[in-house]
Amino acid sequence: LPTIITAGNVTKHFNQTYALAGVDLTIGLGESLAIMGPSGSGKTTLLHCLAGIISPDDGRIRLAPTDRSAAADITSLKESGRTALRREVFGFVFQQGLLLPELTAVDNVALAAMLAGMNRADATAHARAWLDRLGLTEHLNKRIGQLSGGQAQRVAIARAQVTQPVVTFADEPTGALDSRTSSEVLTELLSSTTGRGSTLVVVTHDENVAARCSRVVRLADGRIVADSAMQDVAH
Ligand code: ADP
Ligand code: ADP
Repeated sequence: LPTIITAGNVTKHFNQTYALAGVDLTIGLGESLAIMGPSGSGKTTLLHCLAGIISPDDGRIRLAPTDRSAAADITSLKESGRTALRREVFGFVFQQGLLLPELTAVDNVALAAMLAGMNRADATAHARAWLDRLGLTEHLNKRIGQLSGGQAQRVAIARAQVTQPVVTFADEPTGALDSRTSSEVLTELLSSTTGRGSTLVVVTHDENVAARCSRVVRLADGRIVADSAMQDVAH
């Protein structure tokens, strides 16, 4: 696979605690990468560093050039550059919190498209198309607060994918769903990301989620201790 993200010696501490103690990770285009590990092992911190949400204290994260985006050294970008990257090149699906509960499904998705530079008419058309694809045709004009957890996560997927991101970052995207709904939402997430050749990076506690990803990286105490793409990383 061509490389999309290269992370070297990514280090982050909060007060005296090392959340990440020198992580090296190369992520391929079209890969679905599950990040697993015990609570507090650094999964979310790693995801936030890779996505340019927070800056590591040390190390370097580079984005390879694609037909959608220029090469970027994420760690040396200013906040404005990282914001543009998050809006235009990356997509985010979290357990909750990214959708605006008072807005309708279609407005939530269209807003993300407009923040990435689309005009209102195009944004609305693309939002409708993604929501249709995700089986939400009957719920376009419902507010997020009126939807079930599984429906809301489908809206979150549409919101993340409406800009056709090169990399989608998901943090426990199915953590609040029952196992059947979780499986359906994961199917939609995989098909809408790796299904069009883009990359999915997903933090999860759920072995069922990891089992459906192409690669699993395990963290412990801020270090990678296993990587299904390599043999015996820990030794
Ligand atoms: P995980 O996602 O694996 O549960 P995190 O990346 O959230 O782990 O956290 C790794 C470590 O960093 C933990 O010890 C956590 O308490 C600490 N940490 C994470 N974020 C912060 C923060 N904003 N302030 C202080 N400590 C933090
Ligand atoms: P907005 O302007 O929509 O509030 P930003 O432009 O700051 O968001 O960031 C773009 C995207 O990056 C957000 O829509 C969100 O998905 C993600 N993001 C930004 N900051 C955070 C954060 N602290 N935690 C999680 N995700 C974030």
